[in-house]
Amino acid sequence: LASRAYKSEPTIIKVGDLSIGGDTIHVMAGPCAVESWEQLLQTAQIVKEAGATLLRGGAFKPRTSPYSFQGLEEKGLEMLAEARERTGLRIVTEVMDTRTVGLVARYADILQIGTRNMSNFILLREIAWAGKPVLLKRGSSATIEEWLLAAEYILAEGNREVILCERGIRTFDDYTRNTLDLTAVPVIKYLSHLPVIVDPSHAIGKWRFVEPMSRAAIAAGADGLLIEVHPNPSEAICDGPQSLNPENFRALMQQLNDIAGLM
Ligand code: PEP
Ligand code: MN
Repeated sequence: LASRAYKSEPTIIKVGDLSIGGDTIHVMAGPCAVESWEQLLQTAQIVKEAGATLLRGGAFKPRTSPYSFQGLEEKGLEMLAEARERTGLRIVTEVMDTRTVGLVARYADILQIGTRNMSNFILLREIAWAGKPVLLKRGSSATIEEWLLAAEYILAEGNREVILCERGIRTFDDYTRNTLDLTAVPVIKYLSHLPVIVDPSHAIGKWRFVEPMSRAAIAAGADGLLIEVHPNPSEAICDGPQSLNPENFRALMQQLNDIAGLM
């Protein structure tokens, strides 16, 4: 169902009045985690003004350590919904387990499956039934075929709204957090009709390389980007080193606008 052989024309996913996978590039931007109402609203206003169309932010956070901040949970979801009311930005947020699919789906416009859950097939089935578009991140050690088969789990349940997200894979190099596999973009476009976006923030882990690799992702044919932005990255509870500050995010959007006519 994910293949070009099954469906030759590209899938366009409607989220409100946005079309993902169509002619325009969509930038989903926001903090790694929803930390407070002030932090979220401020970020939402900054990214909206700069030209982003969707707001990202984690309310349930999959942290490597159980002692790290785990997210504001439902309070975070309420804040995301309120930020949508205030700004008109659509909301993308992660679902971590089957128990909270219904809860997150009541607030979010797009449900995110994180890299750690790409192969959680029970969750993939369950999320398909929520009736919302799914942003499926590539597992950090998943081949392109495994990633497409994970998408197939969602499609096979009758949910045809899957957006693939390349977010870097594990390689021997550890200078960057992961290795951004931009090859995946044209390969997915060749193999599949599904939209594909790129998350250079988690792929690289260092903010200064986010802008050049965002441009490269668009040049490679990505339908959009997922970018971490924080009003004050040095104070971010998570992923500060890879988060763009407002000024750098505006500069990135300007660059993208020059190459892709975003605004
Ligand atoms: C995220 O986007 O918030 C996230 C945790 O990313 P990943 O699953 O790619 O690590
Ligand atoms: Mn993050």
